[in-house]
Amino acid sequence: MASKDSHRTTGPRHRSAQDHDGPLADYRRKRDFDKTAEPEGAHAPAEPGEAARFVVQIHDASRMHFDFRLEVDGVLKSWAVPKGPSHDPTEKRLAVPTEDHPLDYHDFEGIIAQGEYGGGTVIVWDQGTYRSLATDRRGNEVPFAEALAAGHASFWMDGAKLHGGYALTRTRGGAFGDNETWLLVKRKDRHADKTDAPDPWRARSVLTGRTLRQVAAESADEASRDDGD
Ligand code: MN
Repeated sequence: MASKDSHRTTGPRHRSAQDHDGPLADYRRKRDFDKTAEPEGAHAPAEPGEAARFVVQIHDASRMHFDFRLEVDGVLKSWAVPKGPSHDPTEKRLAVPTEDHPLDYHDFEGIIAQGEYGGGTVIVWDQGTYRSLATDRRGNEVPFAEALAAGHASFWMDGAKLHGGYALTRTRGGAFGDNETWLLVKRKDRHADKTDAPDPWRARSVLTGRTLRQVAAESADEASRDDGD
């Protein structure tokens, strides 16, 4: 993970017009990259044929939540899922859209400084790839971004913890407002089962095996060592 110091030594940044107007404009406007350890990132469309990636982070912010992010057209489309994804098709999980995140966020784990946007500890709970299962009413494939724009997209996840079919469906809001709510639901397949909601405090990072508390303690240690230099 990039340390805060690496951000301080990069010097002035010359941002292109795309940085202000592109899909990451909201993400950048909300953050001060001299103060947060999060990546500034870049908009980087995938090469054709590359598997699209996903990441699910647990974020101990003012309200504990899971951040569910799918790579779509060079950014991570993102939803905050308070209870986290379920393996149980009868569990409908509220998913509230948040701003697009850069692809570099895929590996972000650590502390966002208190007082900064989203201040709190983040662990990478699951990572992997997904395949679109999005089709129109006739069963023809449609581009995933188009399916999301229309408010319903199905996909197949190959992660360490999440497997099989899932669907995201918009239940409120849409074209004219930002009060959108969605539901994230497991599809019925051989990967479905009745497990409880993951306990965010007991969950471990798929990258480092650490819990939220361990990441918080170790990142705080690093920060105090930096201060002593
Ligand atoms: Mn979050």
